[in-house]
Amino acid sequence: MSIDFGTDIYEEPIVSKSFLPEDAAEQSLRPRTLQEYVGQAKAKENLSIYIEAARRRTEALDHVLLHGPPGLGKTTLAGIIAAEMGVNIRITSGPAIEKPGDLAALLTNLSENDILFVDEIHRLNRSVEEILYPAMEDYAIDIIIGKGPSANSIRLDLPKFTLIGATTRAGSLSAPLRDRFGVTLRLELYTPEELALIVTRSAGILQVPIEASGAMEIARRSRGTPRIANRMLRRVRDFAQVKADGVISREVADMALRALEIDDLGLDPVDRRMLRAIIENYGGGPVGLDTLAATIGEESITLEDVYEPYLMQIGFLTRTPRGRCVTRKAYEHLHMELMGPEQLEI
Ligand code: ADP
Repeated sequence: MSIDFGTDIYEEPIVSKSFLPEDAAEQSLRPRTLQEYVGQAKAKENLSIYIEAARRRTEALDHVLLHGPPGLGKTTLAGIIAAEMGVNIRITSGPAIEKPGDLAALLTNLSENDILFVDEIHRLNRSVEEILYPAMEDYAIDIIIGKGPSANSIRLDLPKFTLIGATTRAGSLSAPLRDRFGVTLRLELYTPEELALIVTRSAGILQVPIEASGAMEIARRSRGTPRIANRMLRRVRDFAQVKADGVISREVADMALRALEIDDLGLDPVDRRMLRAIIENYGGGPVGLDTLAATIGEESITLEDVYEPYLMQIGFLTRTPRGRCVTRKAYEHLHMELMGPEQLEI
């Protein structure tokens, strides 16, 4: 294997929210128990109580809505809930369920207490969503048989099941759907210390030797997101094998991440383009999301779901009713001159 450091060997940015081919290996890195699941203390504590209570009553767990940016562990958590409850899980996504009949088929195939996991649940279409209401509330669906005046509606009972919905944008869920979830858990970006634990654990599974300082360097630069931390680990491993003695030290991690254009804070070229565009084209903001997206040639949804949460968390970006603004910290990080104090929100 050879790596040419001069060219961009990886086409997809590391921050990409889409599922990359290399993520297929994610399965092996997924924690399988609540105990192995790092961080998210509040969500875990609440969940373990609900799980224990449902188990004692030998009932299905209440429907759960998980929300937070991509790659924070929503799918992983759904799998863990199923394992802890000792039930089966069926995994699907909002866009994959096209017609009411698709959902009816999924629901009628579930067994008592099973879990149906619907990723990107905010993307369910209206007609499918309407089938879901009675299914969640009464464990029944109404099926129309026949057409025209002779059409008949029959009610079909379903096994008691748990719906786990995952979404990057809880605000896009319709109120009737949101109200039918008994439990809503918000996943937060992880701290560097938590991510270092995840990186160290993944390195153990992948059998990559790593120093504590190397794990911390990856953790610090993976923008609060376990999926990104694991992706970085795999790419840094390549560098460690080719350019060093195979061990991931702080220096090797730094060299590899620099070559991948990930800066000291974990910002990638898109983050920097976004911040620069606000500064250079809009005097630091405010600028509307769609205008900004068009300026840098990215989709607004990607900017909002993938890039903004971290930029806001580190205090580089603020959202105001009139649009996005960059902060003084962002100017300093990019070594750019302030345009004038009156243009800064903070
Ligand atoms: P989401 O469904 O929120 O997009 P995933 O559940 O697919 O995210 O998580 C992405 C990857 O990150 C998983 O394969 C897993 O290896 C890792 N991961 C996520 N959360 C955790 C965690 N709390 N502890 C350890 N690894 C995690």
